Amino acid sequence: MNNINTLTQASIALKFGKTTSVELTQKCIQRIESIDENIGCYLCVDKIGAMKQAIDSDARRKFNQSLGELDGIPIGIKDMISCKGLPLNASSKILQDYLASYDATVIRNLRSKGAVIIGKLNQDEFGMGSSGENSAYKICKNPVNLSRTPGGSSSGSAAAIAANLAFGTLGTDTGGSVRQPAAFTGTVGIKPTYGRVSRFGVIAFASSLDQVGVFGHKVEDAATLLSGIAGYDEQDSTSIKISVPNYNLTLNRDIKGVRIGIPKEYLNKDVALDPEVKTCVENAISRLRTLGAKVYFISLPHVHLSVAAYHIISTAEASSNLARYDGIRYGPRIGFEGGFKNLYKETRGKLFGAEVKRRILLGTFVLSASCYDSYYIKAQKIRSLIVDDFRNAFTLVDAIICPTVPSVAYPLGERINDPLKMYLGDIFTIPANLAGLPGISIPGGFSKENLPIGIQLIGRPFEESNILNIAHMLEKILKINNEPVK
Ligand code: GLN
Repeated sequence: MNNINTLTQASIALKFGKTTSVELTQKCIQRIESIDENIGCYLCVDKIGAMKQAIDSDARRKFNQSLGELDGIPIGIKDMISCKGLPLNASSKILQDYLASYDATVIRNLRSKGAVIIGKLNQDEFGMGSSGENSAYKICKNPVNLSRTPGGSSSGSAAAIAANLAFGTLGTDTGGSVRQPAAFTGTVGIKPTYGRVSRFGVIAFASSLDQVGVFGHKVEDAATLLSGIAGYDEQDSTSIKISVPNYNLTLNRDIKGVRIGIPKEYLNKDVALDPEVKTCVENAISRLRTLGAKVYFISLPHVHLSVAAYHIISTAEASSNLARYDGIRYGPRIGFEGGFKNLYKETRGKLFGAEVKRRILLGTFVLSASCYDSYYIKAQKIRSLIVDDFRNAFTLVDAIICPTVPSVAYPLGERINDPLKMYLGDIFTIPANLAGLPGISIPGGFSKENLPIGIQLIGRPFEESNILNIAHMLEKILKINNEPVK
């Protein structure tokens, strides 16, 4: 398997009989057993289940009944997503020992295409965080440099790709949790349009922002995996009935004349942008120009308000979504002998982590009668202005380019006691969630310290194929070596 690193390579090798699903799955499991103790990607590995799925896949292939590109490919799943029979903990103690009783639609879709579900991946508790340090179980490290954060909240999903502990992974992105860890680990991560992928069976953090996304080494890997999970689902009322292209077939289109916008607000002095990140984005822009793209400055006049609006809207929704964890319906129970009030207080007080409690408190506060208009309604108005900003920009350009994150991966421990600093790192990713737009992060280069830098492309609603194509062309011309960590 030494020369099979990416999902696409694995898929081709399977197709031409150069390997088997059993071999790929076994090697993944062996590698997890030998190195993941030092990284912390997996919360659980379904050895027996994965091997059984691999055996079934090989049997199908033998009888020429392969289910396509994903058949037999080991895929890791963020712990926010239900996989029947496996633990579903959202990396929280409040869901400790809880087992999923059904498959999320994205998992059903993957299984119907023969993918091998290998295990559940570490994350920030309930998706709240940007560094992986808010997991109640263990810290996840960046395989590129173990002293650094892999980003979050889909920390394990990104790190597992960077360390070759899965060929593709699923994450969720509410404010950047797929794109930001992709940037920090030198992997590719795409968050599709709100409504493109079903959220049925996915633990809700902030329902108007949450979307399932995918990780891979290369754009084509992400394209294959996204094609595998996307599509309308009648069990998710927010999913949209629009046909899903085969994203791989729309790669390699010429981008001559494609109009790309640079938001001028992102170059303001008050945006703390690391000079190395800025240089990397500028380099990507000049390469796009050489490919014939037309680059323009555009304006997104309200994006500077996005982090504040996000932390009002997302916490308000989280305070409601997380009310269900009451010590009665799911997970462990503390303080039952003191009556119901005591049960709620003890269970929620002891089993939610500090960041989750901070968000529940903030969300409850902004929804309280005296704050509702001045915070919640105001944030919704700002959200509408940001939606309009993008709508206007997309009359002038076909895609927007900007950094994924203002910095490279910072040392573990650096921001965990400074939540505001942590939140501000999401400045470039949050706007796409507020506007429901698709966004992709691809590796654009490395810093002097050899840490990956992410380039983000944002597209019009349901134009994933457009940003995947631009990203793919950019990836080809940049020739970044993001081979998995040895
Ligand atoms: N880092 C952001 C937060 O802490 C986004 C998280 C996410 O996308 N799930 O809320």
